Amino acid sequence: MRDPEDAPEAVEPLGGDIVRCDACPVLCRIRRGQSGACDRYANEDGRLARVDPLLVLQRGAPAVRFFDSGKAWDGSLVSGANTFVTGVGATTTYPDYKPAPFIVASQADGIDMVTVVTEGIFSYCGLKVKVDTDRFLGPELAAVRVGGEPVGHVTTAEYGSQMLSLGGVRHLTGGTKKEGAATCDAMLRLANREAVEVQIDGGAAVVLQAGSAPIVNGEREHRMRVGCGSATIGIFARQWLGHADEVIVVDDHITGVLTEHQAGRFLDMRPSGIRVRGRKSTPGRYFKVAEPGLGWGGTEIIDPLQIVERIDPAAAWPGMRLLMVSTTGEDSAWFVLDEALRPVPAPMPAPVRAVVERIAENCEAALCTVLFMGGAGGSLRAGVTENPVRLTRSVRERVTNVTCGGAPTYVWPGGGITVMVDVTRMPERSFGYVPTPALVLPIEFTMPLAAYAAMGGHIDRVVPLAEAIARARVRSASWPEANPWPVRAR
Ligand code: SF4
Repeated sequence: MRDPEDAPEAVEPLGGDIVRCDACPVLCRIRRGQSGACDRYANEDGRLARVDPLLVLQRGAPAVRFFDSGKAWDGSLVSGANTFVTGVGATTTYPDYKPAPFIVASQADGIDMVTVVTEGIFSYCGLKVKVDTDRFLGPELAAVRVGGEPVGHVTTAEYGSQMLSLGGVRHLTGGTKKEGAATCDAMLRLANREAVEVQIDGGAAVVLQAGSAPIVNGEREHRMRVGCGSATIGIFARQWLGHADEVIVVDDHITGVLTEHQAGRFLDMRPSGIRVRGRKSTPGRYFKVAEPGLGWGGTEIIDPLQIVERIDPAAAWPGMRLLMVSTTGEDSAWFVLDEALRPVPAPMPAPVRAVVERIAENCEAALCTVLFMGGAGGSLRAGVTENPVRLTRSVRERVTNVTCGGAPTYVWPGGGITVMVDVTRMPERSFGYVPTPALVLPIEFTMPLAAYAAMGGHIDRVVPLAEAIARARVRSASWPEANPWPVRAR
């Protein structure tokens, strides 16, 4: 990733062999045959050109095809109604003192529609990364680093997943230049579905990659937990009945103790007299039985008997059968109490083993999920309309559909146009960067033509699909069927 001040073209006067790129505030002056600081624009024979072709997605078109700029779109491959112009490779007009590069007419159910297509530049943006693991990645609020630079932090855990908040304007532009560059580079690679290794202060080294299993301290995670320890008790209590006298499900959140738990009481199970460490929440549910870690159930425990605080001789009995298991079924142990009421390891009976295996079967595959989140409520709107607040209102009223590379987005309620998108639903390598630093995101606004006119849109720039495509070097790929078709009147 280059520093804009180091761009060799930046201080040279414009000459016959030099073109100036005005797609971002860096304003690179690019020599013939070279590219600008972001590698997205190049000087091709004295002409400024976007390096990547414009991506159009077509329903019912299996192959990837290329078309040269200037040649007429033959329209014969699939109909215009099945072609969507994405923002990938569309070019940028930041800070949007010009209309968006492509404003394309189409039809849906007999209604005239329009899609405004651009590549937005986002300083206010970040990634929310969901890491499906109970292992301890680091304390909440701990810094997440790449190459020693802080690029985000650990945020509130979710059910079965640890959460990271990466990027954001403070890391991009509010810290040192090195921090901004490291943040932009890490976000770009993650958003483009590459693997990035992060180190968490006071925690683990984790390899993150959208759509792949996380790797924690060199070990690939396989399963996310079936539920917390209490939930696991609730789900499997009936299946243990008659095969075990006590089951303890070890979990960093809530450790469950079957005979004390409501599920065991419901089944009239005899209290075992085993008391685990930690803080009792409600009967059979215990918080903080151990410190968090990389052992059983996201705790630091390697020997499960460490969490047994005492065994009440008035309640327990010799021969009592005890199962200890983690919330993924990856760790399990079977004990039988001896005459002195000490748990002694023993071979696990087949019916008990079957339930442990069923816990594992009910665990979903552990994945990293990367959602991009950014604010499109700024000057980008001027590329769409002369009256930007009307675009914001139209998005909020769901008249205008916002997509990123054709992928559906979630728009946050309240002010602005704060969008979230799953990067795995977008075309590969959709994201770019500029060295200000900021990320470049393809974004499309689709609405009825009448609504576009009413919001003060750049109606004089609306062109038919064939004309838009004739203006660019175009790559065509098939529409991902898992995504809803974005051109529809609402
Ligand atoms: S950094 Fe890229 S977009 Fe910005 S002026 Fe240079 S070539 Fe153009």
